[in-house]
Amino acid sequence: MGFAERNWAGNVRFGAARFHEPRTVDEVQTIVASATKVRAVGSRHSFNTIADTVDDQVSLSALSRVAEIDTQQRTVMVDGGIKYEELIPYLHDHGMALANLASLPHITVAGACATATHGSGVTNGNLATAVLGMQFVTSEGDLVEISRDHDPGLMDALTVGLGAFGIVTRLTLAIEPTFDVQQTVYEDLPMPTVDGQLDEVMADGYSVSLFTTWRHDHIEQLWRKVRVGPDDEDAPPVAGTRRFGATAATRKLHPIKGLSAVPCTDQLGIAGPWHERLPHFRIGFTPSSGEELQSELFVANEEALEAIAILRSIGEFLAPVLQISEIRAVAADSMWLSPCHRQASIAFHFTWIPSWLEVEPVLATLESSLAPLLPRPHWGKLSTIPGDVLQTRFERLEAFAELVTEWDPTGKFRNSYLDAVLG
Ligand SMILES: Cc1cc2nc3c(=O)[nH]c(=O)nc-3n(C[C@H](O)[C@H](O)[C@H](O)COP(=O)(O)OP(=O)(O)OC[C@H]3O[C@@H](n4cnc5c(N)ncnc54)[C@H](O)[C@@H]3O)c2cc1C
Repeated sequence: MGFAERNWAGNVRFGAARFHEPRTVDEVQTIVASATKVRAVGSRHSFNTIADTVDDQVSLSALSRVAEIDTQQRTVMVDGGIKYEELIPYLHDHGMALANLASLPHITVAGACATATHGSGVTNGNLATAVLGMQFVTSEGDLVEISRDHDPGLMDALTVGLGAFGIVTRLTLAIEPTFDVQQTVYEDLPMPTVDGQLDEVMADGYSVSLFTTWRHDHIEQLWRKVRVGPDDEDAPPVAGTRRFGATAATRKLHPIKGLSAVPCTDQLGIAGPWHERLPHFRIGFTPSSGEELQSELFVANEEALEAIAILRSIGEFLAPVLQISEIRAVAADSMWLSPCHRQASIAFHFTWIPSWLEVEPVLATLESSLAPLLPRPHWGKLSTIPGDVLQTRFERLEAFAELVTEWDPTGKFRNSYLDAVLG
């Protein structure tokens, strides 16, 4: 991967004095043992300073193999630097699949799980829920392994770990037999349907996403991803077919109006392998708009309609800086810092124009408008919610901070982002 001064969006300039790309776990241990401040970096897709450090930044891009697959036990063990785009074709070739993916496959598994990255689907937890075990290089340079079988409580604490407990050099993930997915995009879902049947709409498929600019009396696009088994009817829906009052598109679409749909995964209801339909964007192409900032807020399912009403009421205020918003469903889980900790959630994502100066005041207003619904922000995206408020939104944050101090007493893995979040 090589040294990169900035993150993917270009809005964060990293402050690391040194950059390392170790080729073995031994080398990772040596770097960490001798460092004062050190931090792992994945594919740099986070929009904030979570992966930054002042001293030693470590990329595991040279450690990106699949170490072992067990199709009987349905597990795969991977190196800490592997990206989904490297893992998923391998799994598919072995007749296996992951339960879900984010909108893009370009990110590392370790980096995605550290921030509770997610896709959509009322029965799908975030990507970290697939993690069954992890190997860490801890602050002293020691190798420690934990697993869901032996240490379920510790796994709940450490899996969405924000990079605070050490460098993850191995992950074991749950896998399942490969499956096909049909993806169909419907246009113009009427708002009264959303207000009356949001639960049904979000549950109408394996993974459902709604795209809106909050400016119309309809949701511009409904992306419906349906699993098709060998015995299922997989004929594509006829163009023009209506679903919840929305109309099946007759051509492939990008979520942002006017952008080319070439980078998007196949639509029009044509069935294909899971990894070529579950992400919105294809391997080898720039995901999303490419020129953007992102934020995301999760609210409990029960609060989703109220959140939609609030966002619609400020739609014109958001408009000058908003490119597109996405609404997704994520299942509840038990991980301490997951935004879906013990609550099935609806996630409200915002793709902004690439100008923090203009976005920040709008985001601050948006976040205070939604504050009565106690939204939890995405750890890898931009937010103006201060650390003391986060303590009230993530009930295990204080316990997490105590555990971080136990694992990393000298604060080797801490950076300014973690200081602000953990206090
Ligand atoms: C275009 C785009 C689309 C996106 N779509 C989605 C989406 O659909 N859903 C969603 O939830 N998010 C999405 N995101 C956000 C993204 O998934 C998260 O920011 C994710 O954490 C990025 O992974 P990364 O590999 O780039 O990690 P980085 O951003 O490089 O790092 C993130 C964190 O992981 C830690 N880390 C990385 N590797 C290791 C390791 N080996 N050991 C310990 N800690 C480690 C870092 O220290 C840091 O704390 C999107 C981002 C972009 C740019």
